[in-house]
Amino acid sequence: MNQSLIQTLRELIEIHSPTGYHKEIQPFVSQRLRNLGIEHQLLKKGGILAVLPGERPEAILFSAHMDTLGAMVKEIKSNGRLKIAMIGGCPWISLDAENCQVRTRKGDLISGTFQGTKPSVHIDGADVAKTERSQDTTEVILDAKVQSADDVRALGIDVGDFIFVDPRFQLTDTGFIKTRYLDDKASVAVLLEAMADLKDAPLKNTLYFFLSTYEEVGHGACAGIPAHVEEFIAVDMGAPGNGQNSSEFAVNICAKDSSGPYHFDVKERLVALCEELDIPYRQDIYNFYGSDASAALRAGADVRTGLIGAGVFASHGYERTHCDSMEATLNLVLAYAKAGMP
Ligand SMILES: [Zn+2]
Repeated sequence: MNQSLIQTLRELIEIHSPTGYHKEIQPFVSQRLRNLGIEHQLLKKGGILAVLPGERPEAILFSAHMDTLGAMVKEIKSNGRLKIAMIGGCPWISLDAENCQVRTRKGDLISGTFQGTKPSVHIDGADVAKTERSQDTTEVILDAKVQSADDVRALGIDVGDFIFVDPRFQLTDTGFIKTRYLDDKASVAVLLEAMADLKDAPLKNTLYFFLSTYEEVGHGACAGIPAHVEEFIAVDMGAPGNGQNSSEFAVNICAKDSSGPYHFDVKERLVALCEELDIPYRQDIYNFYGSDASAALRAGADVRTGLIGAGVFASHGYERTHCDSMEATLNLVLAYAKAGMP
């Protein structure tokens, strides 16, 4: 098990970074890069662009997104409970009974729990199970003695405040990692480890590492791509599950997602490197998926794109992967970066 990779992941997971809140993750990652002596710039939207110069200026860019799903206070109800606005596509059911913290404008953190509006078997009977979860049937119950909207406002909570969901990180002795937000912090960890490995290596092509924000709402890598980037490899999750070829124990190479096929030559080279170096891999197609590479293409970038990533089970819920999958992803990133473009 690559302890350093898993430790980096754990540190990243512990920093709350729902889309729109990059105040903590951006300085944390920037400090990591400074410690490694890697040149980088802070992007205005909250992302980071790091560079490792190669012999040739024609560049390969690897991306991973630092933002995650999350929630905001939509309404303070007259009974002191909170109605929620979702950030990104998290299924309501997955928030059921999850602990959270509301961040006030002053920066205080007030704990609470997501509950259905009919949560008690002894009061609501069969409705507990029958009530479909939605914005109208889910609320946050604060761990504070509040009975009215004014009581809640007195705590400093307002509409628009961020709600941080407890990620519940667990590493099992069998090598599984269970936590929210493996999407895409598993890949951010992979790229940070890759940069540490590559910074002193001889590189044929210049490498960029784009750690984006706003990916979960679709426009992550729409801006900020240097002009001489020729290949854009999004490192994001693979999705194992019903009918899928993806695996939690391999690197997953996406042939096509909702945004269409990825570049044939890039995909072929990714597969060839896995074959050559005995990196466990799977190719797959995702029906409901778009990556930062898709965002770049939509914004008009003329680049060859690829998408790879660790296999993340139950994506956008309480997710799971295995160390083997993250290590295979890291090995493929390193192999592709060192090989450079033909
Ligand atoms: Zn993602």
